[in-house]
This record gives sequence, structure tokens and C-alpha cells, in this order.
Amino acid sequence: MKPNCDAVELLRSLIAIPSVSGEEKAAADRLFDYLSEREAAPQRSGDSIWFDRTGPVQGRTLLLAAHIDTVAPGDGWSMDPFGAVEREGRLYGLGEVDDKASAAAFTICGLEVRPPAGRLIVALTSGEETGKSGLIELLDLIGPVDAAVIGEPSSLDICIRQRGLLVITAVARGRAGHAGRPEDTVNAIEVAASDILALSKIDPGSADPFLGASKSAATVISGGSAHNVIPDRCEFTIDIRTVPGRSHDEWVRCLKEALCSEIHPHSGRYRPCSTDESEEIVRRAVQANFRAELIGSPTASDWAFLDVPTVKMGPGNPLLSHRPDEYIEVGQVTRAVDVFKRLAIHYLGG
Ligand SMILES: [Zn+2]
Repeated sequence: MKPNCDAVELLRSLIAIPSVSGEEKAAADRLFDYLSEREAAPQRSGDSIWFDRTGPVQGRTLLLAAHIDTVAPGDGWSMDPFGAVEREGRLYGLGEVDDKASAAAFTICGLEVRPPAGRLIVALTSGEETGKSGLIELLDLIGPVDAAVIGEPSSLDICIRQRGLLVITAVARGRAGHAGRPEDTVNAIEVAASDILALSKIDPGSADPFLGASKSAATVISGGSAHNVIPDRCEFTIDIRTVPGRSHDEWVRCLKEALCSEIHPHSGRYRPCSTDESEEIVRRAVQANFRAELIGSPTASDWAFLDVPTVKMGPGNPLLSHRPDEYIEVGQVTRAVDVFKRLAIHYLGG
């Protein structure tokens, strides 16, 4: 008898296998076996898995990518985060919406779709939550793609904008001395304070219609060593949530011009992303789920590493990500499979 392909059953089994970032091996093994049993010829790189379906004639390549790792379970769970408990049409567990429901729905979509042309690739990747994106490694192995769907919870709305993230370490320098004789000193904490106030006066650039304006905030600060020493160094962190229209290099230039502190960018890979509404992948996504809205997303994802037209969409309420008692409506998982199948057939057959 042929093994069945049930997205909810697959999701339940994935929830029962803990896969906190860095410990995805057992979940990757499960998916590899699941796909092998169904003769999908999966391939593996580390703890990331992918398989493809090729149509009868040449055509475009569509990538569906979701991650299989989760954050660690936080406090506040009222049930076993790996129990996959079902209550009143909801399935509870760590990673239900972020991102195992998308991973399960893409897997079943890939198994069931017969591409009318071209190639459908499903990637189920590790390391997303810690920035050690398994998708980056896979992209070299998979080869070029024409468009992508990043599966992340959006209640199946179609996300066509995504905020970027730029983290800066700023170092304010001063001249140390005795606090009783401050005349010859420059207080690095005061330099930092004035720069932090200046931060809010930097022009954030033009606002995005879906995301609004870029936002910056000083989020960590440290400086000084004793109450009677004027400090010569104060370090602070600036967190900038960027929007399309100004690159991270331009942001660094703006900060260097506006602030006295040294500016050291140390996490800028999560660039802001946007896909124009006129792109075919957007139109096909709308066609596949006509009830969906076009939205922007404040959180970063593997989309940042793709340079082809991409939409981010998946089952589940994004507000439940990384929260205790995370759950998904069971009906949305099966609906997601249907939406992704329609999207793949429309895009590859178009
Ligand atoms: Zn995610």
C-alpha cells in the first residue's frame, strides 16, 4: 500500500521531534525518510533537505522554502510544547506556525503537484532562527530559480515587503581623568548620550506604503568603570529596522555623518525586501488565494538571501510565533496545501 500524504499528520509528527536551532538532525532524518518512502528522491546538505519535481517540458523554476528549526521553548507553556495536543480544531506545539506548518504544507504540495512545465523545488532548511541559514548553502546546490515562496506564518496573506535589520555597535570616545578635575577630560558617556539623542533626528528616508518608515533605537549601552573616573569609552548598540529605498551601506554612511561615535556595522545581511505587485509570482499568489491581502512584514526571514521575485506566505497567525502555547488552526494547514498547489501549477504552467 502506498504511504499516505497528510499534511496535518506530518505536522503532528514534526512537532513531536524537538528541533531547536542547531539540533535539527532528528527532524531532518524524519523528513528525509518520509520523502524517501514516497519516492521523492530527497537530497540533503547538513540538516537541510530538498527535493524537486520536474514537468514534462522545460520551463521556469519555482522554489518553496520553509525552515524546520525553532526557537527554544520559553516559559509560560501550559502544556507539553512537543505534545502536538489537539483541542477544538487547534493543534498546539512549539513551531506550529513558525515554521513547521509551512514545512509540512510545502512537503505535501511538492509530493502531490505534477508541474505542467519547468521545475518545482521544495527546500526544508535548518538554522533560520539563528541566522545560520541552511537556505544559503542550498541555493548553490539547487541552481538558479526564477521565483520563490518563503513559507512563514501570514494567515496565508501575501507578504510583498519585509523589513530589514541592521545592527550597529557605536563606540563613543572621550579623554579619561579624575572626576574631581573634569576640565581636561571628555566624558565618553556624554558623547554617547548626545549621539543617542541625535539618532532620532536622522532623516529615516522615504516611508514604504506597506511598512511605514525605518525605525532606529539605541537598545544596549555600557561605559565607565568607577564613580570617580571620567570614562574615555562608552559603547552602545543601535538596532535599525529598515525599509526598501535605502541600502544598509547608505544607512552606515548617514550614521557616520550624523554621529560623533565610531560606527561598526556587524549584522547587515538582513536587507529589506520588496517584490513589485506586477510580478508574476504576486499575481499567481493572488490567483491561488483570492481572499488574501497584500501585506508587509516587520520580521526578517530567509527572503533576505534571495534575489528573485519572492512572496512570503504561510499558514498560521504570525503573532503566535515564538510565544507559549503556539497553535495553528488545523483547517488552515490543509487549506495551505491547496493554495500552494494552485500557486505552483499557475506559476509553472503560465
Ligand atoms: Zn520563521
